[in-house]
Amino acid sequence: MKITSVEPIHLRVPVVEAIPDGTLDVLIVKIHTDEGITGVGEVTSQSYVCKACFEAPRSAARRHGLTSILVGENPLDVEGLWEKMYYETNRYGRRGAAIHAISGADIALWDIKGQYEGKRVCDLLGDVHREDVRAYASVLFGDTPEDTAMLAREFVDLGLTAAKFGWGPFGQDPDVDVAHVTAARAVLGDDRDLMVDAGHAWKIDTAKERAKLLAPFNIGWLEEPLSQDDRKGYAELCVDSPVPIAAGEGDVTHWDFEDLIERGVNVVQPDVAFCGGLTVCRRVSDMCLKHDRRPVPHCFSTGINLAASLHWMASVPNGDLVEYCLRPSPLMRKLVSNLPPLVNGRVPVPTGAGLGIELDEDIIAEFRVNS
Ligand code: MG
Repeated sequence: MKITSVEPIHLRVPVVEAIPDGTLDVLIVKIHTDEGITGVGEVTSQSYVCKACFEAPRSAARRHGLTSILVGENPLDVEGLWEKMYYETNRYGRRGAAIHAISGADIALWDIKGQYEGKRVCDLLGDVHREDVRAYASVLFGDTPEDTAMLAREFVDLGLTAAKFGWGPFGQDPDVDVAHVTAARAVLGDDRDLMVDAGHAWKIDTAKERAKLLAPFNIGWLEEPLSQDDRKGYAELCVDSPVPIAAGEGDVTHWDFEDLIERGVNVVQPDVAFCGGLTVCRRVSDMCLKHDRRPVPHCFSTGINLAASLHWMASVPNGDLVEYCLRPSPLMRKLVSNLPPLVNGRVPVPTGAGLGIELDEDIIAEFRVNS
């Protein structure tokens, strides 16, 4: 089998606000083959830039566009193609947009392999440990503690057993932080997990103080208390933090995650559609198993990312948690016509071969940029 063409397709809703919402502007990737099988993937990054990473022509050594690297290759050699894409872009790649774009190609290649072999992607990734995955939803803290309590109530009513609050008014004042976390915990009760995303709010000394302040609330993890690049800070914080520390949604390649694990981060959060794809995620969860860390995918874009994350988590022994995006964007709710639903706080792993999802071509036509 050979790859005949690669289609990077940019989808964007009419109004994209500058809020932390990855469901408004995405790049999806279709890889076509000479046997009539098409795989789909997604890139959650700067879509204009990542589309160019595919469409750029061949150049001097290791400066090629991804499409030119892939066309003519055997799509079943997924890991070999990951290495080839990584190496042949490494004068402009290695980190950043080129790796984000590789994620979309890698997800599509796993989809092709699964369809060709009549197996689900989770079966290709390893042993399957579960047929559904526990979900957590995440949301910005409300403007007031009362608003935060109302948001927590919505999660409880949806049947969720875990919820994450972050950003918004959080991080500026310890009393305000405690008031919001108190409000969320009161509604969630002691039986549901509560996680907190600090959104890079602090320097190391403040992060240490806040971790102690939040410990009595039994939070599942404290996410990104520091800048994503303050690696020394993470190492210092993780040594004696009374709460688990989570990070990694901005990291790429297994090398970044190896570094995070060495720094002591407890919960590592690759985004499948950003970190380099399922090939990278599998390497990360293998490292997590070895070092007793917990992998939990960051997943806040479309149903393609969700499906890929579910397959990954199904194949990971300590992987029973996935982020479930509840944003109303049609790119989240409608792009995948058989979007995995929330059922009693869990999400079923798609059952069809490959990723097991179907795209709604009308949605693609409606939101496509420069088709
Ligand atoms: Mg986050």
